[in-house]
Amino acid sequence: MQINSPELVLNHPLYSQKQVTVHIKRDDMIHPFISGNKWRKLKYNLVEAENQGKKKLLTFGGAWSNHLLATACTGAIYGYKTKAFVRGEEVVNPVLTMCQMFGMIIQFVDRDSYRDKKALFESLESNEDYYFIDEGGSGIEATRGCAELIEELTNEYEAIFCAAGTGATAAGLAIGIDKIGLNTNLHVVPVLKGGTFIYDEMKALGASLDKTILHTDYHFGGYAKTKPELIQFVKEFVAQTGVMIEPTYTGKALFALHDLIAKDHFEIDSKILFVHTGGLTGLLGMLDKFSF
Ligand SMILES: *Cc1c(COP(=O)(O)O)cnc(C)c1O
Repeated sequence: MQINSPELVLNHPLYSQKQVTVHIKRDDMIHPFISGNKWRKLKYNLVEAENQGKKKLLTFGGAWSNHLLATACTGAIYGYKTKAFVRGEEVVNPVLTMCQMFGMIIQFVDRDSYRDKKALFESLESNEDYYFIDEGGSGIEATRGCAELIEELTNEYEAIFCAAGTGATAAGLAIGIDKIGLNTNLHVVPVLKGGTFIYDEMKALGASLDKTILHTDYHFGGYAKTKPELIQFVKEFVAQTGVMIEPTYTGKALFALHDLIAKDHFEIDSKILFVHTGGLTGLLGMLDKFSF
C-alpha cells in the first residue's frame, strides 16, 4: 500500500504566542480504515505471514479496537481470511460491523479467557493455518514498520510527540531516531493509567530509552476515559486547526503537548513534531460525550 502521510505545519495561537513551531505527521491520512500507526504495525506482520505461507490472520482486541478494523480491511485487500477474539460480552457497534463487512469473523470471549491469548489461539481448529498477531498489533514486526516514519521526515525536530497504548509505536520511533542518529527527544504520552510500564514495553521491544520522556499524567482516569476538560480541548483543537482528533489517543497526547508548551517546557524557536496516529473511528463510540 502506498503511504500517504504528509508532514504539515500546524497553526494554533498557542504556538505563535510561545514562539514554537509544530508540525504534524498525518498518519491518519494513510487510509480511512487502516488508520495511522495500525498500517505501520501490520506491514511487516503481513510480510512474515507471507514468508510462513499463512493465508489467515488471527488477532485480538476490544470492541472499539482500531487494530481490529485495520486488520479486517488489510485482510480484505490482500486476500487473507481474518478472525478476531473480542474482549467482553457480545455487542453490536459500528467498528465491529465494519470489521464484519470486511469479512472478519468475530468471536466474543469473557475477560478472563481473553487474558490467555496463547490458549485462545491453541483452542482454534486448524490453528496452524493462522498467523498470530498480538493485541494492538504489538511486536517486533510492528516496531520495524513504525521506525520507517522517522526515515520519511523532511525536517529535524527537538521533540517528537506520540500517544502510547502498548508502546510498540513509541518503541519503533525510538529505534528509528537511534538508527538515523537524530538528536531528538521522543515524548511519549501513555493513554492508560500507570503508564510507566511503557518503558518496560519499549525496552522489551529493543528500543533504547536515552531520548525517551514519558508523560504519565495525561491519562484522564484511564484507557478510553475522558473528562470535560479533555472533551473541551478536543473540540477547540478541531475547530481551531481543521485537524480531526479523538479523545482516546490523539486528544490526550495533544493535550499533553499543549500543556507543556503553555508551561514553557520548550525553548523559543523549538521545532516539534506531533505524530497523528489516526484512530478517528473511536469517535463513533463517544458521540454522547460531545454535546453542543
Ligand atoms: C492503537 C493506537 C495507538 C497506540 O499505539 P501503540 O503502538 O499500541 O502504543 C495510538 N494512537 C491511535 C490513534 C491508535 O489507534
